[in-house]
Amino acid sequence: MTENLQCIGCGATIQTEDKEKIGFTPKAALEKGMETGELYCQRCFRLRHYNEIQDASLTDDDFLKLLHEVGESDSLIVNVVDIFDFNGSIITGLHRFVGNNPILLIGNKKDILPKSLKVARLTQWMKERANELGLKPVDVLLTSAKKPENLEEILSSIEHYRNGKDVYVVGVTNVGKSTLINKIIQSRAGLQEIITTSRFPGTTLDKIEIPLDDGHFIIDTPGIIHRHQMAHYLGKKDLKIIAPQKEIKPKVYQLNAEQTLFLDGLARFDFIKGDKQGFICYVANDVTIHRTKLAKADEFYEKHKGGLLTPPRADEREHFPRLVRFEHSIKEKSDIVFAGLGWISVKGPAIVAGWAPEGVDVLVRKSLI
Ligand code: GDP
Repeated sequence: MTENLQCIGCGATIQTEDKEKIGFTPKAALEKGMETGELYCQRCFRLRHYNEIQDASLTDDDFLKLLHEVGESDSLIVNVVDIFDFNGSIITGLHRFVGNNPILLIGNKKDILPKSLKVARLTQWMKERANELGLKPVDVLLTSAKKPENLEEILSSIEHYRNGKDVYVVGVTNVGKSTLINKIIQSRAGLQEIITTSRFPGTTLDKIEIPLDDGHFIIDTPGIIHRHQMAHYLGKKDLKIIAPQKEIKPKVYQLNAEQTLFLDGLARFDFIKGDKQGFICYVANDVTIHRTKLAKADEFYEKHKGGLLTPPRADEREHFPRLVRFEHSIKEKSDIVFAGLGWISVKGPAIVAGWAPEGVDVLVRKSLI
């Protein structure tokens, strides 16, 4: 019934089924909108009434279309990533899409990392990792969108690099892109009257355009859900446990070879071979770490999954994906990253194995800290 209805703000096709998808409108709002002739999707409604944008996510295909469109534009591209989940939130292949457009990389959620970590080092680290992925940002900035201390710096960088052009803000979902853009909107008086438009009629990419002083726009784009991330396999309550809300306190474990750590029931780390050494765990403070003997680890997991090792919860025990093992030989200081959950820093030399639910990435990278 809603097939042909479009949001008069962004042009998205109105639907009442899926809150997370673009064009969502609660049924009651749909009826009211049809009566008054002012039919907005929930995202545009919130923007108009509360000056707030909301997340929206696209399918893979639409996301590719969006990236193509961004590539064809003449603009500055601001790519927001989550520093805590850097590998999971960087858009692989972005460089292939953007053409000659400059990319400004913004690492968000700085507040989660230990305060002792220097901005210069972190920025340099992000630059190197981005370069490895073929991305050559014109600049790298760090921020905490929740409480941005450097909003002016970000705005003046954007102003500098956009060079009189439009600005596309891209990012996978959950990196804090909406939070950051809302801070930008709120910081600029005169933006109270934001109108949402889709400059590409017929597309349903649901972009939101924030006017700049010179007739150009900051264009907010929907993200894509990163599927190889732990968050994808957990309910809302468990997400609260694994997503750090404040500065993480690293936990150090002195291990002998043939010892195992469990990060709740979500991931496992085996120290297989090497001299006794310290392993530093960077995970949300609410994640509990259990130590056991490698030889007993399988049995321990079967016995305690959903009990002592929660999440997953008892009622999720049966459906939770099995843990899959990735073995790595570590020669220089590296991080074993459990996508979206955090990482364990290994000094090496050591042979280790990281285990994560089937579908979630475990990878090795040069150590961040
Ligand atoms: P989007 O999907 O990229 O638009 O992400 P949101 O803006 O909705 O943010 C995703 C989650 O990250 C929310 O729970 C935010 O509260 C949280 N978040 C956003 N910015 C920050 C930040 O600077 N620090 C921390 N700790 N959390 C943040």
